[in-house]
Formats: sequence, C-alpha cells, structure tokens
Amino acid sequence: MIEVKDGKNYRVISSNVTEFSDSVGYCEHKIPFFMEGLKAPPSQAVIRGSAMHEAAEAKEKEQFVFEPITAAELADMTRNVEFAREDISTRLMFPIKTQDKPIMVILFGRADKIYRMDETLVVEEDKFPASLDRYEGRFEPFAGQKLQALAYLNSRFADGQEQGPDKWFDINHSKKEWVIRIMDREKNEPFRIYKGVQNEEAEQFLYSSIERFAYLVLGIVPREHHNTMSKCRPCGYKDKCEFRL
Ligand code: SF4
Repeated sequence: MIEVKDGKNYRVISSNVTEFSDSVGYCEHKIPFFMEGLKAPPSQAVIRGSAMHEAAEAKEKEQFVFEPITAAELADMTRNVEFAREDISTRLMFPIKTQDKPIMVILFGRADKIYRMDETLVVEEDKFPASLDRYEGRFEPFAGQKLQALAYLNSRFADGQEQGPDKWFDINHSKKEWVIRIMDREKNEPFRIYKGVQNEEAEQFLYSSIERFAYLVLGIVPREHHNTMSKCRPCGYKDKCEFRL
C-alpha cells in the first residue's frame, strides 16, 4: 500500500518496492489503487510464481545452513557473505527538497537473494512469467524489473526476524550489481539472465524515478498513460480502471 503522512519535518510517502516499481515502471494509473490499498486478484502467473519462490526457498533451506553474520564480517569487504533466500528486509529512504515541506520517500521490501562476492554487493531477483515470448529477443529487463532490483540494491538491510529501529545495517562493498533471472517455469531453470553494474546512469534512473513517484503520489504532476493495450490486458485492475485500453 502507498501511504502519505504529514510528519513533523517531512511529508512522508511510504510504499513497498513492488508498488513503486509497478507504478513508475509499468503504469502510473495504478497509483490510486495502491493508495486505496486495493489488491488486484492474483493472476495464475503470480500464484505459480509465488509457489516457485517458496519451493526455491525450501530447497535452499534443505541444502544449506546459514550461520548468523556478525557486524565485523559485514564490515570486512574481503569476506564473501550470503543471506538466506527471502530472509532479508530492505528499506530505502530518499529525501526530496521542495519549496514547501520536504518529502521523505520510504520504500520497503524483501529481496529474493542478497550476497557479497569479491567486494560486490549483488541483488538477485527471480521472475516466473506466464510466457517467455516477450523475452525472446530482449537484451535488457523491463523498466519496472530493473527499478525493483535497484531499489533493493540501494537500501539498508535487516534480518527477516528482527524488529525495531536499530535493526538496519549496511553491507560494505566497493561496487553494486543486479541480476534478474527470467525463469522457465516448466524446466525451473533460467531462460534469460540480465545483469548490470550500478553506474551513474542507473543511479540517476532510480532516483529520478523515485522523485517522479513522489510527485505523482502527491498529485504535483499528472499521471501519463503508457498507451499500450498489451499492458492493460493482463492488468489486475482492468475491471475497475477508467483508463483501460
Ligand atoms: S488497466 Fe491499463 S491503464 Fe488501468 S491501471 Fe491497468 S495497465 Fe494501467
């Protein structure tokens, strides 16, 4: 859900990462539904994808035992570290200056997989699309998928079980990389693997998207239509949406 609160020093917008990336990376007209807290009925692809995520998590638990990682180990970039699948919460806080009260955007979520390898912080996301056709000739992920991975990559982290304001920690690194695996659901193996190092362009893409998201949520700029019929067809809000094509 996307929420707006008028805090003492900031107007605070909080949202989960997927609703942020789905709004700016897929369709801006989803924002009012997310602000109302309306959940779209899950598609078969989403149901199947969740089941496959759970299966991957269970398989990893069967095969590996993850020891708790100490603060000293997190600080030591030369150590490779890996967190259990789906066990890490993320929080990205991004302040935006305005002529009035500043805005604070808080994006929270849970990444599929996070690890540090050879001083590189890596966020890995698995997608289980209903059809692989649209990935056939694609050499990069869709904008929303990239935004989601970048948001996790630029967050602070917390152990899935931890509660409280002191739970957030950083993972020292010298560079950042995202990996998006498009999985073949029948074979349960990657069909495409997209990878990227976080550079200035990626950073600019993330932060300008967060800024646009904040302005859209607050109604400072109007929402734009993607004008793509094939995006409306699988949309879970199509029965309620006046902008449906
Ligand atoms: S039906 Fe189309 S315009 Fe409406 S929210 Fe869905 S994708 Fe956006």
